[in-house]
Amino acid sequence: MNLFGMTLGALQEQFAELGQPKFRARQTAEWMYQRGARTFGEMTNLSKELRQKLSAQHEILRPEEQARLDSADGLTTKLLLRFADGTAVETVLMRQPYGNSICISSQAGCNMGCKFCASTLHGMERDLTTGEMFAQALHIQDFLREEGSGVDTVVVMGSGEPLMNYEALLGFLHLMHEPYALGMGYRNFTISTSGIVPGIYRLMEEGIPVNLSISLHAPNDALRSELMPINRKYPLRDVVEAGRAYGERTKRRVTYEYILIDHLNDGEEHARELCSLLSGQLASVNLIPINPVVERNLLRPSPERIRHFETMLQSRHINVTVRREMGTDIDAACGQLRNRHMN
Ligand code: SF4
Repeated sequence: MNLFGMTLGALQEQFAELGQPKFRARQTAEWMYQRGARTFGEMTNLSKELRQKLSAQHEILRPEEQARLDSADGLTTKLLLRFADGTAVETVLMRQPYGNSICISSQAGCNMGCKFCASTLHGMERDLTTGEMFAQALHIQDFLREEGSGVDTVVVMGSGEPLMNYEALLGFLHLMHEPYALGMGYRNFTISTSGIVPGIYRLMEEGIPVNLSISLHAPNDALRSELMPINRKYPLRDVVEAGRAYGERTKRRVTYEYILIDHLNDGEEHARELCSLLSGQLASVNLIPINPVVERNLLRPSPERIRHFETMLQSRHINVTVRREMGTDIDAACGQLRNRHMN
């Protein structure tokens, strides 16, 4: 049985079956999650007999690093991690001025069908488990530890729609928070959703103050449905209403992501519509100039158009930032590395 990714409670059950006290389970968790142990043989404060028993009956299954790309400026590292069944996912480390931020995947591929996204081109292969999401974070934590640092913030914004893999996501958040694992505060997590309305309300009820990021990308239903098919099921007004409720209940600022696409959603009328949609809400807008998808004729607006859109939002008192680009020289756009691997 694979012990990696188990909570302390689940490990204690396994150890009880071996006739071992609970503290042995905690020691093992700390070896696996805090000290980077990949074999039981490394766990030198367990007896030799116990280490042999564990090695005979259990394993510590971690994903393999299939590919690793470092950006020329050294700030971004993109990894393709492969699990035992051959499924591969992307995980990214961004060394930001405010700390080390990682972006993890919640599903292998995605079936949401967003027009601008490479992760959905092959559909969804499968959901990831809590342990597989955790393994992505720990993979990066292990090599950061050698540099004398660690993971500071986590965004669940890689391939997949996290709120469609809800139980595994919740397990991941709890495991990352546990003191025997990474001990990270919930405020250091951001969950990015394409707007799964029931999932937003469910997350709101959990009582954990994680940040929410909602992909809007268009200020009206007609255009949003064209770009994001999920809008036909959960239309814009319901999504924004769920975002408002989430912000009010959790007291966390909700971020609306808005990919800017040349002459598609970046006009003055779009800026005005977006402002009226969000007026009165404690929210901020993150403008993301698109990584061009030439086959679909989705191109990046000029710097002047981007600046003008930003200014229009600012003049209407919307808190707005333009996303700093990182790692474009290593295909940082979601899904591109995995697609190359699959092809
Ligand atoms: S943007 Fe997110 S939700 Fe949309 S297809 Fe890509 S991974 Fe899925």
